[in-house]
Amino acid sequence: MQAWVIGNWKQNPATTNEVNELIDSLLSAIDERSNDLNPDICQLMVAPTAIHLAAVSARLQQTPLLCAAQDISAHSGTTGAYTGDCSAQQMADAGASWTLLGHSERRQYHQESADELLQKLTHAQAQQLGVIFCIGETQAQYDAKQTLEVLNEQLAVIKELLTQQPKLVKTIAERLIIAYEPVWAIGTGKVPTVSEVSATHEHIKQTVASFADELPEITVLYGGSVNTDNADSFAASPMIDGALVGGASLKAESFLTIASAFSRAKA
Ligand code: PEP
Repeated sequence: MQAWVIGNWKQNPATTNEVNELIDSLLSAIDERSNDLNPDICQLMVAPTAIHLAAVSARLQQTPLLCAAQDISAHSGTTGAYTGDCSAQQMADAGASWTLLGHSERRQYHQESADELLQKLTHAQAQQLGVIFCIGETQAQYDAKQTLEVLNEQLAVIKELLTQQPKLVKTIAERLIIAYEPVWAIGTGKVPTVSEVSATHEHIKQTVASFADELPEITVLYGGSVNTDNADSFAASPMIDGALVGGASLKAESFLTIASAFSRAKA
């Protein structure tokens, strides 16, 4: 199975100049590491802000880096009176081929509901955008050993999408990545053990497989404080198909060191 290492830039960098500097260093470091990074083994992707998406995707044409949106509007897949929103169609037109959905920061600060996420998934599907669907438990839920229960509830949206679109099950699955991101591990430096993550990913793969007949095995990434020190150990697990990287994706060197770890381990 192909590995994926995806950089979630969140609300960074601050200026267009800094965005260009980051792209410059990513592209030159990719060149230098051409022996180490094989896009057939490990696909790289970055998710800039909506304001930087078109410029970033234009610069990434003909490079091994794909471009993702960080979110799309729930209200309309195309156009409409939804001030401040950007639709799946607009993100695709700006050069995104994928979108993150359901990131814990969206769930927390924008109270994203299951219904909204289902709308977003439906719009992404209609506009041929692949989806990186983020799920994960809070510290309190982890402490109360509710992780699998919480994940099952979050994954029910995927089941609903597949049930509503039975003819598109294979197409949806081919363009779907699940990112398991414990909320307590995001930006904190705390990480679950590799064996905990592996067991959770196995559960996610089995759960999604139970949603429809003949589903291909789903790609499951780990996210939450992945860095240059722990990437090798996550990459060594056959259950961990890659990483969704926040903080460490803002420096070309750390992002590509993580990508190299997955390229090596999955070769
Ligand atoms: C994220 O926000 O998706 C993330 C994984 O962040 P970090 O790597 O900074 O923990």
